[in-house]
Amino acid sequence: MKITRILAYRVELPLHETTYKWSGGKSVTVFDSTVVRVETDAGFVGHGEVCPLGPFYLPAYAEGVRAGLRELGPHLIGEDPRQLAKLNRRMDAALKGHPYVKSGIDIACWDILGQATGMPVCELLGGRYGDDVHLYRAISQETPDAMAAKVAGYRAEGYHRFQLKVGGDPDVDIERIRAVAAKLQPGDRLVADANTGWVQHEAIRVAKAVRDIDVYIEQPCLTYEECLAVRRRIPHPFVLDENIDDLGILLRAKADLAMDVVNLKISKLGGLTKIRQARDLCVSMGIAMTLEDSWGGDIATAAIAHLAQSTPTEFLFTTTDFNSYVTVDIADGAPRRVNGRMAASKDPGLGIRPKMDVLGDPVVVVDR
Ligand code: MG
Repeated sequence: MKITRILAYRVELPLHETTYKWSGGKSVTVFDSTVVRVETDAGFVGHGEVCPLGPFYLPAYAEGVRAGLRELGPHLIGEDPRQLAKLNRRMDAALKGHPYVKSGIDIACWDILGQATGMPVCELLGGRYGDDVHLYRAISQETPDAMAAKVAGYRAEGYHRFQLKVGGDPDVDIERIRAVAAKLQPGDRLVADANTGWVQHEAIRVAKAVRDIDVYIEQPCLTYEECLAVRRRIPHPFVLDENIDDLGILLRAKADLAMDVVNLKISKLGGLTKIRQARDLCVSMGIAMTLEDSWGGDIATAAIAHLAQSTPTEFLFTTTDFNSYVTVDIADGAPRRVNGRMAASKDPGLGIRPKMDVLGDPVVVVDR
């Protein structure tokens, strides 16, 4: 089987809550997502999706996905989409770095492999654990009272895991954590995610001020070394995210005992092939994971669901359903949240059918 054509579509994904805000005053109102379509000479067609959290979160931006596909695509025409390790080596040889550019192609090729073998992607990724997976809800950065007021509504939607966006003024963040923690019920989990927003001394101050609260602290500072210094001085369970973008740093973090949980995002690692390597390594090393992506709609959520449900349950700290945050449906067959949980499709591949009328005309077409 050979890849004959690679196309990309640009789609805008507005938010039900109109704006998503996190550390340092960063915010997004409309997500700019790219759907990648890989066509083959055997009639199989696969899809992937890449949606950076704006251009100021990770070293990735939406137009960069499309520019990267124009650069990389011609090197992949004629390659077998089912031979995923070989295909990834080809991508890495043709374009140094830029993992987020490669992610959509890799996801689309897993979709093709699933269709060609008649198997859901989650079974190809190692096997299906349980009937479904539990989801966390991110709470956009607002005043402490406004954030606390969101908890009851999210719990009514079935969520029991809440990820607070902090990383702002440390004194206000202390109030944010206290206000939301006061709304928790038995069985709930709370994560305070600073998204690199605190300086080292601020992170230690915040953590010491909430020392009595059952809360995880996620990625307090910009660099790995700053996070490690904080980790060594606070009592809370600790999550690394933005710094962990390849196997080298993951292994170093394990050796340093730098985290209890790691947040792995599909496009941050470069696709399902690479995140599976990291995921399997974490299982072997005893590190639980939040498995997700930087953002996305139905297709990204489908890929997340297959990855999450193919992870041994005790190692899946949490995952997320980005398609429930946005107002536009781009595919049929995508997971839908039920009681704060979602399940990967049992159909072959990702189990999604893109809505071509919503995607419109392609903005990238590579056929040779
Ligand atoms: Mg995070």
